[in-house]
Amino acid sequence: MTEHIPGIYNYCDRWCERCVFTKRCRIFSEQQSIMEEVNAADESEDDGSEKLLKHALDSFAEAMRLIQNWAKAHGVTLDTDNSDMPERNPSIEAAKEQLVSAGRNYAKMTDKWFSVNSYLFKDKEQEMQLKFDLEIGDIEKEFAELVNALEVIRHYLFFIPAKINRAFANLGWDFDEDETVQNDSNGSAKIVLIAISKSLSSWEMIRQFFPEKTDELIDILMSLQKLKGQMETQFPSAYAFKRPGFDDII
Ligand code: SF4
Repeated sequence: MTEHIPGIYNYCDRWCERCVFTKRCRIFSEQQSIMEEVNAADESEDDGSEKLLKHALDSFAEAMRLIQNWAKAHGVTLDTDNSDMPERNPSIEAAKEQLVSAGRNYAKMTDKWFSVNSYLFKDKEQEMQLKFDLEIGDIEKEFAELVNALEVIRHYLFFIPAKINRAFANLGWDFDEDETVQNDSNGSAKIVLIAISKSLSSWEMIRQFFPEKTDELIDILMSLQKLKGQMETQFPSAYAFKRPGFDDII
């Protein structure tokens, strides 16, 4: 059996269908096992809900154990009284608000652009069909490129603000992360930067398909480019972070 890579799922892009490390990922293996159990239960007319509930409870217990270990290591008391919690550096709090909000705004702009311009894709489909029938150009390749660009943009749309949020989670507290490069903030920031770069390339591809929309698309491209620059400024060591599996030689 191939060995799992510890923590690989923490800094991946959660796109398992496209991941080359599925066989070495504990989360993927667990998801597969659950699906197999549920499918087996379906066949035996058991709805599988008991197994799912048990798995959820086990996962919760494991998460609690990890949180408690972390809290103990950092001298943090896990009770509901937060009065003695250290204040977070206000400039980091402000940066978090600003960047998470910029990530959400990008998602809103994108959503709006696709709703207003849905007709473009219908027209493009007809145009491609015509070219295909007339055997003009490599339409299959063009179609694959367009579909890929759309899938990439869609996959990272809400992933970006969620991961920005996580990148700030441990930043600027008294119990700040010890490692200057290999820490959760840099790992999360790095996957945000990767997601933004892939999204930028995909938007450029969309722009090439619809050059008449360049002015509108430049706004989206600029907002993403600005977000990328702000993340790079806020997390200057992010690119140096080695993501388990993806950036390490295994
Ligand atoms: S490492 Fe790969 S298989 Fe595992 S959760 Fe991430 S994308 Fe999915």
